[in-house]
Amino acid sequence: MAVVVMKFGGTSVANVDRIKNVARHVKREVDAGNKVAVVVSAMSGATNQLVAWVNEASQLHDKREYDAVVASGEQVTAGLTAIVLQSMGINARSWQGWQVPVETSAAHGSARITGIPETNIRNAVEAGEVAVITGFQGIDPKTGRVTTLGRGGSDTSAVAVAVALHADVCDIYTDVDGVYTTDPRIVPKARRLPRVSYEEMLEMASAGSKVLQTRSVELAMVHRVRTRVLSSFVAPDAMQPVRMDNLENIGTIVCDEDEIVEQQVVSGIAYAKDEAKITILKVDDKPGIAARIFGPLADASINVDMIVQNVSNDGQHANMTFTVQAAELPRALEVIKKAKSDIGYFDVVSSADVAKISAIGIGMRSHAGVAAQMFKALADKGINILAITTSEIKISVLIDSAHAETAVKTLHTLFGLDAT
Ligand code: ASP
Ligand code: MG
Repeated sequence: MAVVVMKFGGTSVANVDRIKNVARHVKREVDAGNKVAVVVSAMSGATNQLVAWVNEASQLHDKREYDAVVASGEQVTAGLTAIVLQSMGINARSWQGWQVPVETSAAHGSARITGIPETNIRNAVEAGEVAVITGFQGIDPKTGRVTTLGRGGSDTSAVAVAVALHADVCDIYTDVDGVYTTDPRIVPKARRLPRVSYEEMLEMASAGSKVLQTRSVELAMVHRVRTRVLSSFVAPDAMQPVRMDNLENIGTIVCDEDEIVEQQVVSGIAYAKDEAKITILKVDDKPGIAARIFGPLADASINVDMIVQNVSNDGQHANMTFTVQAAELPRALEVIKKAKSDIGYFDVVSSADVAKISAIGIGMRSHAGVAAQMFKALADKGINILAITTSEIKISVLIDSAHAETAVKTLHTLFGLDAT
């Protein structure tokens, strides 16, 4: 017998028929004697619709009311899932974030989970109830108001519930059957990874792979929650119920790197098209200049990703290039223009037609020359690199978005990831 958290994303609960399919997956586990908590997203498209309505009501809305509205999507699917499970003779009950309670910070719209008191939910699940919990939402215990966790937050809810339940596995059911070496829509030869380390998954999530929300991976890594990504579109009776010795058979397990026997140097290529590049031309090349540029951006809560500084021939000036989320570009430009007299620069130019391509793998820690190989392969294809960043296990390059597909394919082949 295992304690299992089963999380279903928006496409898996997109309508009542799909919710019935989800219920069959749950029934398989219950029938096998496993203890189950279910975490659901809103029906696909529902959250987008709710966000659009909020913005239509007022662009300058109160974030607490934003949460009151957008949290409702998950309430619908949790209730419907419980109803369908009950109709199949399963002891099920829906739980909203505040009922669990999923306690969060006060940062409405992107709150962080601060804790889940274990008793309520554990008692229910241990007593054999299937607890169907709304993903994405929680409560600020200080104010008692409903909060939401930021887009994609249901993954994080699921991992947090797994921590509270001391679950054996947190199964994230989605519309793909695992984590791939890259996006199979771009590279048909992409392969499913049977296992991937927390560190790699974290880099993949932040480098643009949208399988899991970044925060969910952080949480899983900190608490060593064995997390598995698998598809809800496999027929429920074609899958075996969870046992601790069969997790390997399907999907991708996100786990400790020690549990990965055959480690590749590079295990995946990620790409992100939602970055924008800003170049500030001719700033004075003297101490304090970077702080004067990036200070105001930080104050405006704008995340800067890649940064490159080029010093001009005269040694007096520099150009500063950096990237932000494309959605933040207008705000970032406004901040830079406002700070013009303080920073002191000639002009500022920007472009959203860029893509960030990343090679990720914990094997890089012990292998030299990965970056050089990567740059050479891109150069051979005539692809110009606009910016570079690296971490211990990741190399990212910024290129023109027109070359994104070629770059991904080239690197996938270069690092031996193509399926044979
Ligand atoms: N429904 C929320 C969203 O669309 C949360 C989630 O699905 O993870 O972002
Ligand atoms: Mg998601």
